Amino acid sequence: IEYDTADIVILTAIFAATIAYFTKGTLWGKPKDLFADLAHTNGSAKAGKTRDFVKKMAETDRNAIFFYGSQTGTAEDYASRLAKEGHARFGLRTIVADIEDYDFENLDTFPSDHLAFFLLATYGEGEPTDNAVEFYEFLSGDEPQFSEGLSADEKPLQNLKYVAFGLGNNTYEHYNAIVRRVDGFLTKLGASRYGPAGEGDDGAGTMEEDFLAWKEEMWQVVSKEMGLEEREAVYEPVFKITEDESLSTDSDTVYLGEPNKNHLEGKAKGPYNSHNPFIAPIAKSSELFNVKDRNCLHMEIDISGSGLSYTTGDHIAIWPTNSGKETDRILNVLGLAEKRHSVIRVEALDSTSKVPFPSPTTYDAVIRYHVEINGLVSRQFVASLAPFAPSDKAKAELVRLGGDKDAFAEEISSRYLNIAQVLEMLAPGQTWPSIPFSLIIEGLTRVQPRYYSISSSSHVQKDHIAITAVVESIRLPGSKHILKGVTTNYLLALKQKQHGDPNPDPHGLTYDITGPRNKYDGIHVPIHVRHSNFKLPSNPEKPIIMIGPGTGVAPFRAFVQERAALAAKGEKVGKTLLFFGCRNSNEDYLYKDEWPEYASKLGDSFKLVTAFSREGPKKVYVQHRLQEHADEVNELLKAGAYIYVCGDAAHMARDVNATFGRIIAEKRGQTEAQGEEVVKRMRSSNQYQEDVW
Ligand code: FAD
Repeated sequence: IEYDTADIVILTAIFAATIAYFTKGTLWGKPKDLFADLAHTNGSAKAGKTRDFVKKMAETDRNAIFFYGSQTGTAEDYASRLAKEGHARFGLRTIVADIEDYDFENLDTFPSDHLAFFLLATYGEGEPTDNAVEFYEFLSGDEPQFSEGLSADEKPLQNLKYVAFGLGNNTYEHYNAIVRRVDGFLTKLGASRYGPAGEGDDGAGTMEEDFLAWKEEMWQVVSKEMGLEEREAVYEPVFKITEDESLSTDSDTVYLGEPNKNHLEGKAKGPYNSHNPFIAPIAKSSELFNVKDRNCLHMEIDISGSGLSYTTGDHIAIWPTNSGKETDRILNVLGLAEKRHSVIRVEALDSTSKVPFPSPTTYDAVIRYHVEINGLVSRQFVASLAPFAPSDKAKAELVRLGGDKDAFAEEISSRYLNIAQVLEMLAPGQTWPSIPFSLIIEGLTRVQPRYYSISSSSHVQKDHIAITAVVESIRLPGSKHILKGVTTNYLLALKQKQHGDPNPDPHGLTYDITGPRNKYDGIHVPIHVRHSNFKLPSNPEKPIIMIGPGTGVAPFRAFVQERAALAAKGEKVGKTLLFFGCRNSNEDYLYKDEWPEYASKLGDSFKLVTAFSREGPKKVYVQHRLQEHADEVNELLKAGAYIYVCGDAAHMARDVNATFGRIIAEKRGQTEAQGEEVVKRMRSSNQYQEDVW
């Protein structure tokens, strides 16, 4: 497509407008819960709020509702971006809705000139996200009961017009299962969909592009069906930013990175959860290996006295801090370096919006603690910056990159640049002071805590949570640029500090390691615990087969540690077979010295099978070793063994799944399809469990 200059100006303005979000949430998890109150809330427990969305839309005069079922915030982000775009481009009166905040019995009373959007992620084994469980159960039930009493055969949802987009991952078996099923239920109940049901694929790394391509087609259908005129959109900030000279970083009401009011006032208290981290002491830290650019950390995090608990197989979430180097880079390029410690008040301009972090605060604190400044850059966001470029040349470049998917992939995404590096590259030596700070807050996601599979047994060390993490440091061939993981480099800095380095700077990064107002001093890290279903059989005599290459071995160290402790106490323990893989037995063999210790307690019930991919003439991986042990594996499965797989979701988990199917087929004289069917049944009965990422 060829654009002339006027088109481009409009286009960039549209991008700018759509990137911004103005109803609650968007890129930001559940901001309403982030720091307002510390009690864990869920949809049904929010006092005084209606769960009737039809009524709410009537009261607030809205005609389009954007429901999201989101686990990591992406579906929520898309819902908000679409809502903003629908308003800016087509004059829709929009509202964004967390799907768990509403009941769906009166979906049959949805006005026929209104439109409902469903942005639904599929999670794990084809499951709805936590916040969409109730909605999904209602629709998928045998006979959903609607308010006007029509049965499913009577097409109760004939008035409902809707739009659907799913977020999935094709490396999982049930790709985009939730949006497909919901779309099926709605159609069957008489509702009409506008445009195709879109599907984004995280597995192929094309989620954002899938979304961008789908929405253009969808808007064409929606505007035609609803008779909407497209209009010129201009950027409207979502937040008002006011510098407050009466306050300084010494004022005790100013947030310097504290996650909520209790933390600010030095009265942090539980319950600690995904809205309220515990500032945990790190009891121990070490490097399991350190070769060239690669290192792997083992850390033990003390949760005693916090009220937090875990059981073997759970996850811990680490709340990272951005590095000083990247914080400086973006503040410099935005022209905010001089006033980084000025106090700002951030307020939402629309009554339904929420500020995603506590205010008053400082530019420095927002960037360092709350905004994901390192991540993958969105093409839509880059385009939205064009009107604020410092030169015509930079503007033209932004428009070109924003409008050209392939150029963007080649010049930005595949080079792993972050947003500040893009701005530096497009206007060397210049700053970008015209970019509204509101747009930065709107367009970049909130820093997400990162999860780690706990590598200790709660039975053995209930107050010390161990993690096993490889430090992310990726150098692209032929490039000087090294992509440095946000959380793992922060953890490495903490480890260096704990071992006596006063100014740790892993890979040239620096950190505010003592945290806001030195509250993390003495080597602390903000955390919370997430319970998982990845669990040992309750009967320790059951045999287990574990496959965990690389850091995928983390939860299996915990499993083996637990069984060794039980054996030491004289309990009978079933066969405990572990397949571990890494590059080289002298390089990255995790917990090499510990396994013999566990073996001495477990005796014959423990067996470790290793695959070192770079030692022999041919690459050997865990699935090859599994195949070599087909007889033993088959015997254990016959004896009721449980299978556990942890680590790389993209390739390993899939190959291992296929190998088990093949082993069963071969050893039992069945077809491959029958073998696969057995594995499938094991999965649905939780006898085959995965913890993959
Ligand atoms: P990040 O900064 O988040 O970067 C991670 C990746 O994002 C990069 O490698 C790159 O692919 C991409 N990326 C980042 N920035 C850009 C950019 N500008 N352009 C393009 N791409 C970019 N890890 C472990 O080591 N051990 C575990 O036991 C473990 N358990 C896990 C359990 C679960 C349930 C989950 C979900 C994940 C687990 N992980 C584990 C992974 C872990 O959560 C982190 O993802 C990992 O440590 C990297 O975090 P980071 O902040 O250092 O890197």
